[in-house]
Amino acid sequence: MTINLEKPNILELDKVELVAWLDQQGVEPYRADQILKWIYTRQTDSFDRMTDLSNDLRAHLADHFTIYRLSVEHIATSKDGTRKYVFKLKDGKRIESVLIPERDHYTLCISSQVGCAQGCEFCLTAKIGFQRNLSQAEIVSQVRDIKNDLKDPKSLTNLVFMGMGEPLANYQNLVAAIQIITDGRFGFGFAGRRVTVSTAGLASRLADLGRDTRANLAVSLNATENRTRSRLMPINRKFPIEKLLDACRHFPLPGGRRITFEYVLLKGVNDSADDARRLAKLLRQTKSKINLIPFNSHQGCPYQRPDEDTILRFQKILIDKNYTVMIRRSKGQDIAAACGQLAGQTEDRKQKTEDR
Ligand code: SAH
Repeated sequence: MTINLEKPNILELDKVELVAWLDQQGVEPYRADQILKWIYTRQTDSFDRMTDLSNDLRAHLADHFTIYRLSVEHIATSKDGTRKYVFKLKDGKRIESVLIPERDHYTLCISSQVGCAQGCEFCLTAKIGFQRNLSQAEIVSQVRDIKNDLKDPKSLTNLVFMGMGEPLANYQNLVAAIQIITDGRFGFGFAGRRVTVSTAGLASRLADLGRDTRANLAVSLNATENRTRSRLMPINRKFPIEKLLDACRHFPLPGGRRITFEYVLLKGVNDSADDARRLAKLLRQTKSKINLIPFNSHQGCPYQRPDEDTILRFQKILIDKNYTVMIRRSKGQDIAAACGQLAGQTEDRKQKTEDR
């Protein structure tokens, strides 16, 4: 039998749990807000510094908990300024987060699982299979630690759950993390509209997400016919296009917002003019904008990116039908940080060395 002598990470507790623990110790519930504010808003790493708490309470907290940061194994910087963080988790598994510089702010792309169970044909994360869900603390810490690493932490304004994993398949921890991320009293105070959850299409969870958070929704549609979509994305066998779009139409969108539909362009698979016209038709009843993502290659994947003319033709057909269509020029390709290229690369490299 092994006894775990390590103290629990206080970031694993949500506010209700912290209040309950404090109550057991005879401490007033409002102290929870103070403690959480030190941890998240003020980025404190030691109970000692929580100067609005009594010395006794500070010592008592330090006796029972740690304030844990993720261990950074590797940071890769792309020539376009994109930075990929590889974190090594307590159990030795690795996750990646990608910090993307925009004109006047940063967007951070974070992971929700180690690996992924969705099995999408074109995605590298799928190739490592599903390993486990990330805890609330592991999700939030990606934001906390990277924010802390920035010269101007306020310049991190946008978050996207588009890293490793399927966020809606780790629903409880996702929602707990978003609550902290968007909380204005003790959390990071991100506006809901600056947090985007991207899903492969777990249609049955959309209503819950709309009820439990104010986050934006992005849906990876990626094909316009069920036959193609089921081949590319096995989830389509459970929730085919009609069901998915029906759930999207019922998604409670806050005023003025639209759902982003992501569409990975694969040469000869889903990039024809007919596909573009079908896509326009499919989305007619949905408040939407479209994000075209030219395929990013990775080793062993048979798909190819369409040529530039095909990409622009696809976009034009949609624009002519009055859609807002962005082409996502994925950044960080030289460090394997672009969409669909995340897989805890350091582990891969190590694996290869060990194989030799
Ligand atoms: N599981 C979630 C979030 C992670 S993927 C989801 O499926 O939405 C984030 C986006 O990257 C998705 O739109 C996905 O379709 C896209 N993507 C995956 N692999 C890609 C690749 N090789 N090239 C371009 N985009 C890719």
